Amino acid sequence: MRSLLFLWILMTFSACKAPYLPIPSYYKVNFSKQPKNIILLIGDGMSIAQISAALYSSKKPFHLEQFPVIGLHKTHSSSDLVTDSAAAATAFAAGKKTYNNAIGVDIDSLPLYTILEEARDRNLATGLVTTVPITHATPAAFAAHQHNRVLSEEIALDLSNSGVDLMIGGGQKYFERRNDDRNLLQEMQAKGYRTESYFYKNLDKIPIGTEDKLLYLTADDSPIGVEQGRDYLPFASLFATHFLERRSDEGFFLMLESGQIDWGGHANDGKRVVSEVLDFNKVIGNVLRYAATNKETLVIVTADHETGGLALNPKTKMGKPQMVFNSNGHTAQLTPVFAYGPQSQLFNGIYDNTMIYHKMREAFGWE
Ligand SMILES: [Zn+2]
Repeated sequence: MRSLLFLWILMTFSACKAPYLPIPSYYKVNFSKQPKNIILLIGDGMSIAQISAALYSSKKPFHLEQFPVIGLHKTHSSSDLVTDSAAAATAFAAGKKTYNNAIGVDIDSLPLYTILEEARDRNLATGLVTTVPITHATPAAFAAHQHNRVLSEEIALDLSNSGVDLMIGGGQKYFERRNDDRNLLQEMQAKGYRTESYFYKNLDKIPIGTEDKLLYLTADDSPIGVEQGRDYLPFASLFATHFLERRSDEGFFLMLESGQIDWGGHANDGKRVVSEVLDFNKVIGNVLRYAATNKETLVIVTADHETGGLALNPKTKMGKPQMVFNSNGHTAQLTPVFAYGPQSQLFNGIYDNTMIYHKMREAFGWE
């Protein structure tokens, strides 16, 4: 009788708390444990308004609602109150405020040691996945060091020497058709990389468990948007976790970016913003399910900055956001941070974007 009552309470409680939770409830997170893996998910240009527009448009569960810990970060760079993606990603990657356009370098353009490089040196597996060129500012800042983000060929060269186990994104031409006539794809193959370029599809044809590192190029330059048919990011998120967990017993660090939310903001294209955030929502769901099963993975979802000065106007209705932009550039809004998993409690509060680096190192037990 008592066990029946317990079952009834459990069912009632679960039903009330979370009618459609596709992952076990966050109450099961062991906050005091140390994570073995960290997955940093960055929605470029995805602040509160972009999240709100997608949430109220979504017919499916919106996975950011399931995070137990939420914080806000201050996005300003060393040079400007309004940051760009390069300075913001450098802050996440290396814990230092730097100037707009800087890729993994400090205010004097000297290289900074990034959390991804430290993870690599501590024998963790490492990965960078994006929906823009892999040489673009956000992924680049984790494993390249250049004084300006426009130096795509130099960034590709840095990435080819970085030792990152898995890279997925566009930008093939920066590796293969270069002003210096080097073919970095061939050079990387000689260094133990498998290189593939199936553009937008067929990632599922890559055998997981290969001994090789993998550079998977999804476009010659920029991948297409979700509205044009790009759909590889949700699969890539599943692929990356399984690929990386097989490459090291020590754990992994994965940065995965949805890079075109920002482009929708710059274009003041609300439909495009929503389609890209909803694609990212699938990724977040995949990663949460992985972390909930794995139990040793800290998941952080954040953005580098807001793009477009987006507002949802009074005529907004459920499923039909009235999206109004007041800029075609970035803005200085505080930007949300969502955390799930062991040590996720560190991400509560309001702090500088550089603290995301320090909090990740603290979670790993490195500081
Ligand atoms: Zn931008």
